[in-house]
Amino acid sequence: MRTARAAVWLAAALLAGCDGTPPPAEAPSVPLAPPAVPAPEAPAAPAPPPRLPAPGEDPDFPAKTPPGPRDWLARFKEPGQSPEEYRESCRNRKAAERGTVVLQPLGRIAKRHGDLLEKVRAYAALFFDARAVVAEPLPLSPGDRVEARGQWDANGVLLDLGNRVPGDAVAVLGFCEDELNFVFGVAAPSRRAGVWSVARLAQGGDAGVLLRRVLQVATHECGHLLGMEHCVRWQCLMNGSNSLDESDRTPLHLCPECQEKLRWNTGLDPRRRWDGLAAFYEREGFAEDAALARRQAGR
Ligand SMILES: [Zn+2]
Ligand SMILES: [Zn+2]
Repeated sequence: MRTARAAVWLAAALLAGCDGTPPPAEAPSVPLAPPAVPAPEAPAAPAPPPRLPAPGEDPDFPAKTPPGPRDWLARFKEPGQSPEEYRESCRNRKAAERGTVVLQPLGRIAKRHGDLLEKVRAYAALFFDARAVVAEPLPLSPGDRVEARGQWDANGVLLDLGNRVPGDAVAVLGFCEDELNFVFGVAAPSRRAGVWSVARLAQGGDAGVLLRRVLQVATHECGHLLGMEHCVRWQCLMNGSNSLDESDRTPLHLCPECQEKLRWNTGLDPRRRWDGLAAFYEREGFAEDAALARRQAGR
C-alpha cells in the first residue's frame, strides 16, 4: 500500500504542477485496479440517436474557439471523442441498481458549505436525471495527513474514498474545503470516485461565482466518471481547462454531442431535463443559462 500510495502521489504531484509549472485546473486521473463488483447489466437502449446539428448551426452551441497560448488545448493535443466512440468505450453506465450520484463531504466542508452542497445535489439530480444524495460527512483519515505541509495527501484521501464507494453509486464526488488546497482534485474513474477542493474555486468570486464553479466542476468531473472525454469541437462543459480563468469561460451546459452521450448513458428525456435546469438557473439568478435552457426545452 505504501508503494502504491507513493506511486499515485508522484503522478499527482507531477500533474498538479509541483515541478514549478502552473497547476492545471483539471483533476488528474489516477488509475486504480477495477472494482471487484461486476458492472450491472446495461439498461434497455433508449431511442435511436437523433441527427445532431453541426457546431455553430444552433447559435446556442457554437464551435470551439481557438485556444489561447495558455489554454488547455494549446498544452494538450486531444483528439476528442465521438458519441460512437463513447458508446464503445463507456464502462460506467447508469442503471436502476447503480444510479445514484453521491456527494461526499470530507473534513469540515459540510459545516460551512452545507447550503452549497445541497444546491449541487439538486443540480446533479437534474443534470444527470439521477437520484442524488449528500452523504453523511466523513472525517479525513489521520493516516492521510502530511504533517510537513500541514495538509492531507489527496491521493490517500482518494484511495480511502474509492474503497468505500456504495454499490448503488454511479459516481461519488468527494468535496473538501482547504485541506487539499495544494491540489485542485484527483479522480479514479475505475472506482467511480473523485475528490475536489472548493478552496481554489472560491478565489476572487462571490457566492454566485463559487456556486457556478462548483456546479461546473461537479458535472464536468462526473461526466469523466461516466466515461466522457474532453470535448474539442464545441464550446462545452466537457472542454478541458488549464486555469480558473479558462474554466470561467467554459459553459455550464453540454454541447449536442456530449448531451447525446449522456442521453445514451442515462436514458434521460432532454426536454424535461432542460426544463428542470431552466428552473434551477432562474432560481439562482443565472439569467443567460436559464434563457438557453428555456430555448432548448422548447425545441
Ligand atoms: Zn476534464
Ligand atoms: Zn461537448
